[in-house]
This record gives sequence, structure tokens and C-alpha cells, in this order.
Amino acid sequence: MDTGHLKYKRIILKVTGEVLAGAQRYGIDSKTVRDFSKEISEVHGMGCEMALVMGGGNILRGSEASKEGMDRVSADTMGMLATVINSLALQDALEKIGVPTRVMSAIEMRQVAEPYIRRRAVRHLEKRRLVIFAGGTGNPYFTTDTTASLRATEINAEVILKATKVEGIFDVDPFKSSQAKLYSELTHMEVLKKELKVMDATAISLCMDNHLPIVVFNIMTKGNIRRVVCGEKIGTLVGVGGK
Ligand code: UDP
Repeated sequence: MDTGHLKYKRIILKVTGEVLAGAQRYGIDSKTVRDFSKEISEVHGMGCEMALVMGGGNILRGSEASKEGMDRVSADTMGMLATVINSLALQDALEKIGVPTRVMSAIEMRQVAEPYIRRRAVRHLEKRRLVIFAGGTGNPYFTTDTTASLRATEINAEVILKATKVEGIFDVDPFKSSQAKLYSELTHMEVLKKELKVMDATAISLCMDNHLPIVVFNIMTKGNIRRVVCGEKIGTLVGVGGK
């Protein structure tokens, strides 16, 4: 397949769990999952090798559950299992529209998902299968943002696409201030120094050390994944001059 029109040929798309919840903010909204799958399928059909890292925040976040008194490790384990539930929902919707998909879990559960094995993940991508990484890193105290950085480095992805519900990275929270300014480009170090709330510091540092760019963009605008993959300048690009 001719992929000359693509700026990025192998990508990691980090999908926060909230994206699957749609307007309801909690749980899984079937129509939202179907619409989202169509968009992913369009980009996959263009020849882009795609791996998704699924979050779980629409079901449970360990840090929040532990504030309510739950043991942090147990809460994080539940959070990681939530990412598996989301991954299976997305796999179902993608396969229904003909996208060959493999869910690979960092926590072994062979009856429902393949165990994560790096070489096998790369092989799936080469064979034009879309890979969904579930179960986070498999360790508590991490996030799926860090999972995205880790997996992207492992499978030699060219970029992380961080899907959010706002246009990109702002100097202040755009939901709290109408004066918020959108950055078009930043270095990893600037994100860390300014303490910009986009990904946690562990995730950003890992990308910085491995010269991995991140594009933060609004997933709620239809066609945006395709635009980023084709090299249109949207959202915020982290990593340019500051590699
Ligand atoms: N989690 C974890 N280790 C990991 C990845 C995730 O313990 O390597 C847990 C953690 O509790 C986290 C939850 O899984 O809150 C869901 O992931 P995340 O908060 O990153 O999901 P998102 O906000 O992207 O939906």
C-alpha cells in the first residue's frame, strides 16, 4: 500500500477512557464507541500502522478510589482491569466494521486477550492488524499515559497522538479561563518546567529521553486523527526543537 501521503506511518494513539463515555462521562456509550471506531478505521485504511493505548478513567482511576480509602495497589489493579473492559468494547466495534484487531494485555488473562509480547505486537502491526494495548504497564502507580510512552518506544512508533477533549495544550485550564492561550509547539522540557497538565511527568520524561514527539489534539472534532497523521498542523506538537 502506498503510504507516501502519511507523515507518520506507525503511531500510538492514547485514548483516555472518557472518550468512550461520550456525553455521559461515565461508563461506555455504544454510539460513541461506534463513531470513534469508524474514525480509527478510516486512518487505518490509509495504511497507517496503528496501536491504541486504552485508558480506564471512565470506569475507575486508582488515585481517586484510594482517596476514598481503598488500598492504592488494589485500586490501581481495578483501574488496569477497567482498561481491559474498554479495550474489548473498542475491539468489538472495530471488528464489526472489518478492522482486524488484537487486544494485548500487560496483565495476563489468556482467555480474553493475548499477553503483551513486544515482538508479537510489532508483527501484528506489520500484518496490518490494529493493536490495542490493555492493562496499562501492568504495574500500580503508573498511568496509561506512561504506558503510551513505554509502548511507543518499544514498538518504534514515530509519534504519540494524545487524544483530548480540548484543542491542545493551553497555558491555563481552558475550562476555567476564557483567556487561555493555546501553544502550537513546545519542547518536552517546557512542558515539565511549566508543569502543564497534559500527561504526567513520568510519561513526558520517557518521551524526552527517547526523542519521541507527542501531538496533543482534540478528538471530538471529526477527522482530526487523519489530519494529524497526514501532517496537518493542529493541536500542540511537543518535541520539536527540544528533542
Ligand atoms: N493504571 C495503573 N498502572 C498503569 C496504567 C494504569 O495502575 O500502568 C491504573 C491507574 O489506577 C489509573 C487507571 O489504571 O488511574 C486508569 O488509567 P488512566 O487513569 O491512565 O486512564 P485515563 O485517564 O487515560 O482514562
